[in-house]
Amino acid sequence: MKATHIIGTSRPESTEKIEVANAYDLEHVATLSVADSETVSEAVEAASAAYREPFPTHERVSSLYSAADRVEAHAEEIALLLAREGSKTISEAQREPVRAAEILRMSAEVARTMSGQTLPFDARPGSESRVGYFVRRPLGVIACILPFNDPVALVAHKAGPALAAGNSVVMKPDPASSLSVLRMCEVMLEGEIPAGRLNVVTGGAATGQALVKHPDVRMISFTGGQKTGEKVSSLSGIKRLSLEMGSNSPVIVMPDARMEQAVQAISDGAFAQAGQNCLGVQRVFVHTSVYESFREAFVSKAGSLKAGHSMDSTVDVCQMIKRSEADRVKSHIDAAVQAGARVLTGGHQKDAVIEPTVMENVQTSASISCEEIYGPVVALYRFENLEEAVGRANDVDVGLHGAVFTESLRDAFYVIEHLEVGGVMVNDSTDYRLDTMPFGGTKNSGVGREGVQYAAEEMSETKVVCFNLG
Ligand code: NAD
Repeated sequence: MKATHIIGTSRPESTEKIEVANAYDLEHVATLSVADSETVSEAVEAASAAYREPFPTHERVSSLYSAADRVEAHAEEIALLLAREGSKTISEAQREPVRAAEILRMSAEVARTMSGQTLPFDARPGSESRVGYFVRRPLGVIACILPFNDPVALVAHKAGPALAAGNSVVMKPDPASSLSVLRMCEVMLEGEIPAGRLNVVTGGAATGQALVKHPDVRMISFTGGQKTGEKVSSLSGIKRLSLEMGSNSPVIVMPDARMEQAVQAISDGAFAQAGQNCLGVQRVFVHTSVYESFREAFVSKAGSLKAGHSMDSTVDVCQMIKRSEADRVKSHIDAAVQAGARVLTGGHQKDAVIEPTVMENVQTSASISCEEIYGPVVALYRFENLEEAVGRANDVDVGLHGAVFTESLRDAFYVIEHLEVGGVMVNDSTDYRLDTMPFGGTKNSGVGREGVQYAAEEMSETKVVCFNLG
């Protein structure tokens, strides 16, 4: 597939290129153009020009439905690109375009029902002669900066609500997963989305920076790491910001938990996408009375998973996105071991692949206990009472999702009330997301909420109308 930028109706290339290879077998996957600030400006201008054209609600709705149908029709092709270039097993990749099409349909429904509200202007004495309402207006050009993981679903989560609210979009995917984003957007544009409403520029940090700083961009919808999020905030100037960043999600296992269900869900939540998942389980707090039995079952489950190439349909845990990322995760494991942690299963690295790893005795100060590891690594901790477990789970500067396995309403509500996160899952792993629910984190995990309706609200602003009939 030829990789070009998507700018209105043109498909330009840049002279500067990035070569992308599959991290497992180093097979060459793509030659990407790197957009300089001039190319970024052309994309923003195309988006601004399209924004000035009418885009009535019925066209937004039919554009999004037609985009969803096109994505579904090309699901297998997009999934193959995703598994080849990125870090998802082929079966994980096959689920993503199907999910993306659903998100686009949800966005069409939001477009149809998005509205303002009448206001009780007579609420203030002397204001009885006034009547009025507010409407929701689009913001203009929205810059969407994507991470390498879940790129196809995230195109839908950003472009869907942005278009539903009447905006234009410029996407900047991560170089490691740009092919699937380009193909997804091209396929969406083969439907009814007007040219210029959806643009894509490829490149790395410099391309992202040029987009973030562009004065005609009204909002930045960023998903990625915390350090990059900080950089984006400091560079953006006065623009609306949505920041979806990472975490080191905690799960609490109480003595009355249904163990088989807990082991399965926590394993799925920890090791899917080789642990490169903002919602991935990283820290598991297990009540001391069931610690040994949970540990035995969980270690056996993790040890049974097959690690290998993303294109092998029998593989459960594939290569990480880059060899350097696997080196980084291995160094966190080694540092924890040096400080006294024990590896219960896994712990080995073969090139870009890290075996599913379970550890215990990990010190509170170790990076595995307090940073986002973003790899297939889980730490088990023993606790005596729930207050202590919640306190330790909260003792980090991030909080996206948290989870508890229990049959007790009282304990579940204690966790719901006290865990410092954007979402609490009861009897499920932290890796659960309904695409219509408000999604986002507390602390350094993020600012704002995604989830189609909530994102569409953030991607629009109110405008008040007041008639004085006196
Ligand atoms: P990253 O921060 O390295 O890159 C994200 C994007 O930002 C890429 O497109 C990159 O090119 C771009 N970028 C880099 N420097 C930039 C700059 N100075 N200005 C503008 N753009 C810049 O993240 P990643 O490694 O691709 O993704 C992993 C991170 O994303 C993890 O922390 C993960 O938890 C997080 N994530 C969060 C969510 C969520 O919804 N909360 C979802 C997926 C991933």
